[in-house]
Amino acid sequence: MTAKQRIVSGMRPTGKLHLGHLLGTLRNWRALQARAECFFFVADWHALTTDYDRSENVGENILEMVIDWLAAGIDPEQVTLFVQSAIPEHAELHLLLSMITPVGWLERVPTYKETQQQLEDRDLSTYGFLGYPVLQAADILMYDATGVPVGADQVPHVELTREIARRFNHLFGETFVEPQALLAETPRVPGLDGRKMSKSYGNAVFLADDAAEVKAKLSRMMTDPRRARRRDPGDPSDCPAYNLHRVYCTPEELAFTAHGCKTAEIGCLECKQIMIARAEEELGPLRERRAALAARPDDVRDVLARGTARARTVAAETMARVRERVGVGGGV
Ligand code: SF4
Repeated sequence: MTAKQRIVSGMRPTGKLHLGHLLGTLRNWRALQARAECFFFVADWHALTTDYDRSENVGENILEMVIDWLAAGIDPEQVTLFVQSAIPEHAELHLLLSMITPVGWLERVPTYKETQQQLEDRDLSTYGFLGYPVLQAADILMYDATGVPVGADQVPHVELTREIARRFNHLFGETFVEPQALLAETPRVPGLDGRKMSKSYGNAVFLADDAAEVKAKLSRMMTDPRRARRRDPGDPSDCPAYNLHRVYCTPEELAFTAHGCKTAEIGCLECKQIMIARAEEELGPLRERRAALAARPDDVRDVLARGTARARTVAAETMARVRERVGVGGGV
């Protein structure tokens, strides 16, 4: 990756973040911020595409989430942090891109049908939900992003952004950079019950949890069911908790615990305590930074305001260029 690479990535404001966010996204952002020009944003309009009837908590959720970003080491001096809805240019670009995006392209996006099926308690037969990949394209193209960090399931979205950019460039002349999907290697982070870690499943370890809560939660995290009795051997590859060992433990600790598991020489609690102590080495200082930031919410809002002002300048330049190419704005 060259120093000139520009990265755009966003997160929906879901409130307090959990270990899955830290290990799956924030660690990657932290690595990227050191070597690329990064724009990380609060995707609050995206939250409305599925939660349009639950908008009352968005403001509080934004604050809690950004506190977690900062506590996890996202550095506002190195990156531009901003709130999507505070930059109306995103909506304008979304509108213009929607004029040239065939509906068939959106219906083909795999997550469109999948999410509708997963969230069947909500009516997602809306124009906004169908069009959210166009909003994503606007978020990315606005900043001439060259790279977008994504998991494998999001690659089709970046591909769609590239198709939209190509179509726009073909119709109106070279305007947008085609971004690349940067596939991030992320560890599997199951929740306490072995399913994907998620606030809505009630199986998450939050970054705001205190040390005793983290210890209590991880101590009861699901393990290999073959180890129901202390004397029964197990296999770490069938143990959800061991995914966290792989993230946090040293090679020696991994060898010790794997051997102890397979021979039943150690019990699950002893095994997990080794991992919990290691996890606490990261979570303890993070929690302290979090508490300090939570005590100064106005400073956190200032950080967002400064970043949003910076992002707005770039967005204004992009939109001036776009309006001129399309021929809208009336030249005034
Ligand atoms: S001993 Fe460790 S690896 Fe084995 S099942 Fe228990 S917690 Fe998992």
